[in-house]
Formats: sequence, C-alpha cells, structure tokens
Amino acid sequence: MKIILNNNILRKTLNPFNDIGFVPTMGGIHDGHISLIKKSIQLNKKTIVSIFVNPKQFNDIKDFKSYPSNIKNDLSILKKIRQLDFIYIPKFNDIYEDKKKSHIRLKKKDKILCAKHRKGHFEGVLDVMNRLTTLIKPKKIYMGKKDFQQFFLVRNFIEQKFNTKVIGCKTIRNKNKLALSSRNFLLNKQELNDVEKISKLFLNLKNKIKNTNNINRFLQKSKKEFESFFKIKIEYLENRNTKNLTISNKYQKSKIFLSYYYKGIRLIDNF
Ligand code: AMP
Repeated sequence: MKIILNNNILRKTLNPFNDIGFVPTMGGIHDGHISLIKKSIQLNKKTIVSIFVNPKQFNDIKDFKSYPSNIKNDLSILKKIRQLDFIYIPKFNDIYEDKKKSHIRLKKKDKILCAKHRKGHFEGVLDVMNRLTTLIKPKKIYMGKKDFQQFFLVRNFIEQKFNTKVIGCKTIRNKNKLALSSRNFLLNKQELNDVEKISKLFLNLKNKIKNTNNINRFLQKSKKEFESFFKIKIEYLENRNTKNLTISNKYQKSKIFLSYYYKGIRLIDNF
C-alpha cells in the first residue's frame, strides 16, 4: 500500500491504470468506510482511498474545527486492509490547484433535506468530487447510502460529466443498529448509549408507517414528540421517494430521511 501526499506523485502513480475504484472519505475511518473499500477491491483492479476534510463543504466553522480527524489512527486501520493499493492524503492546495471559482449550483428542486439546512454544503461536495474525479479518473466511485442525498446528487452530477459510475453501498450499523459515522467519535459512552436508544425508536417508525395513510403528517407529529421527549432538535423527518427524492406518502419505494442535533452534534440517517 502506497501513501500519496501530492498531485505529482498521484498522477505518476495512477497513470498506468485504467480500472481504478475510488473511495472518497474525510477520515475518522470506521467499518462503514471499510465496507466501501472492500467492495472496490472486489470490483476493481486498483483501489484508492482519499482522506481530505474539505473546508468548502462546511457551512459551520465550528463543525469543521471539531470534525474528528486522526490521520495516524486512520492509517493504522487502513494498513490492515491487505489489498488496498493507495491512500491519497492531499493538502488544500492540491485539491484547489485549479484556482477557477466553481460555478456549480443546485437546482431549486434539489434544495431539500440537508441542502435546505446546510447552505452551500452540496455545492462544496460537488466541487470537490469534480476535482477529485478529474485528478483520479476512477472507473467507479463508491459512496454510502447513509448519506443518501449526497450519493444521489454526486451520482447525477458525476455520471453526466465523466465516464465514471457511482455505486451506492448499504449503510453499516453497529450492534445496536446505530448508523456508523465519524461524528459518533465525538460522543462519550453515555451519549452514545442515548443516541442508540433514540435511533432505535426512530427506526421503529418504519414499521409504524406501514399502515398509515398520511405518512408525512404522522412523521410531523412524531417529530414534535421526539423533540419534547428527548430534548433534541430535529431538522427534518420526512418520507421521500428514493428515485427522485420528492415527498411521498407511500410506504413502497420510499425512505424516511432524518437529521437531528444531539448536544450540538448533527446526526443523519435514512431507513
Ligand atoms: P465521510 O468520511 O463521512 O465523508 O464518508 C465517506 C463515505 O463513507 C461516504 O460515501 C459516506 O456515505 C460513507 N459512509 C459513511 N458512513 C457510512 C456507513 N455507516 N455505512 C456505509 N457507508 C458510510
């Protein structure tokens, strides 16, 4: 496994290969990331993981500053994956070597869920994915459905512009069904316990909406109950069609999308 720290070495190293699987991450490596890496190893001749906490996709400077980075720990985990070929750890100037300002804008219909609450976030994500894809030229990019809206927007954007497929991979959860996330590292044991309890009750909503007529009205009511009972702030709790992310009151072909703050830490899930 080779660690690549700048673009010159990146270009030289990747140049001979035309079947590259790419897993973009912001570090804080956990089993969710590892599942994407293993999928790429299965389906591509070479696999590269990037670790880059992209400041331009953070709408809140506090969130950026507190993002749980630990490169040393990440490397020690990644080094154990025997068939992983490359780890790319760029500096800001590597990613933004092309100084042209991005003109990427979201369409009005896409300004929903996280896009509505994190202004400029997905513009930053699409810009960095555009830059990374131009540099790495992967055949396939692996992304988690845990961040379903991100996967949805990146897939539409990248597949239209590049000869690259974006593959969505299932959400990995811990034994108590909490979706793994780097942000979970910000929680202490008691807080993690709390979040697992809350998360389990959220997941139960999936059964409850099976025979509900107006699913979104029911979810609005549940939102208020969760907020007052657990003293959490829920940004959204909405049932949406998984093909186009429009609001849906059908159980089939839809998912419940959730974002909430627990003690100032923003957690998202969909199920
Ligand atoms: P991040 O480092 O949080 O930017 O995530 C990097 C990639 O890992 C993204 O494509 C995420 O959707 C994916 N990912 C994060 N958590 C999980 C999870 N629990 N299961 C599967 N994929 C995940």
